[in-house]
Amino acid sequence: MPEGDSVWKAARRMRGHLVGRTVVRSDFRVPQLATADLAGRTITAFDSFGKHMLTRFSGGLTLHTHFRMDGAWQVVGPGKRLPRTFDDEIRLVLHTDGPTAYALRMPVLELVATAREDEVVGHLGPDLLGTSWDEDVAVERLLRDPGRPLVEALLDQKNLAGIGNLWAVETCYLRGYSPWTPVRDVDLRATVRLARRMMQHSLDHPGQVTTGDTRRGRTHWVYGRAERPCRRCGTPVAFRDSITGTPYSRETWWCPHCQPGPFPSLAERPTRPGMRRGVNEESFGSRGRRLRGEAGYARRPPR
Ligand SMILES: [Zn+2]
Repeated sequence: MPEGDSVWKAARRMRGHLVGRTVVRSDFRVPQLATADLAGRTITAFDSFGKHMLTRFSGGLTLHTHFRMDGAWQVVGPGKRLPRTFDDEIRLVLHTDGPTAYALRMPVLELVATAREDEVVGHLGPDLLGTSWDEDVAVERLLRDPGRPLVEALLDQKNLAGIGNLWAVETCYLRGYSPWTPVRDVDLRATVRLARRMMQHSLDHPGQVTTGDTRRGRTHWVYGRAERPCRRCGTPVAFRDSITGTPYSRETWWCPHCQPGPFPSLAERPTRPGMRRGVNEESFGSRGRRLRGEAGYARRPPR
């Protein structure tokens, strides 16, 4: 699932292809924008804010997109088109005087005046990867609900923008906190700094590696590793499935030994005296070998 770093990378890539290009023809394939026409407008910017993308056009118009689970932008060279197998997934085609851009499976696609972008991103907390990142504001917002479980508070984009489930559960692990530790008991500055550092690292490294080991199946500490032995202590990694109908319920993984603290009633696990706070953090790093592909782009093979 695209997280803030994936959207940031998608914006960088799209910027390189399309900023300065003029739209020759636009083809919206969503009912509410069926009559919108961007022809004649120049693309002036691709910016990410958390998991949101803002594409700006001359004349003060912004296209707001959100990838949610599965959306993607795809670009093809001048005169080319995506294979027809993608036709059902296309929500917008931007034909320019250069490459052609496709918005695929994008669940959020709306036009807003550039001067009123706040209407679509103004509710978000500071963007971990943005130039206006403000740690003080993020920590203050996280503490507004002091009893809230850490993993939920980190995922709430109104507190800080860009963290998705992968970074949230891996950050909890590396800091040695149960995901359900109330935020008042957490060193929030160190926690937020670690999440930001990992995401920044990801901007120049394919994949989303938290272990420093890019080999297949070894890229994460607990994410996606239910029942498998913790890489540090060998305890089976615990898992709580997502619970539909609650606002921040996601699949959650954690090591009951390395992450002592409260656990949800649905997945009670015995806790043992644990590790010092932050002791796992030193393990984060990179060893250089690269994974191919970036999340957030269409990479599925033709059907
Ligand atoms: Zn462990």
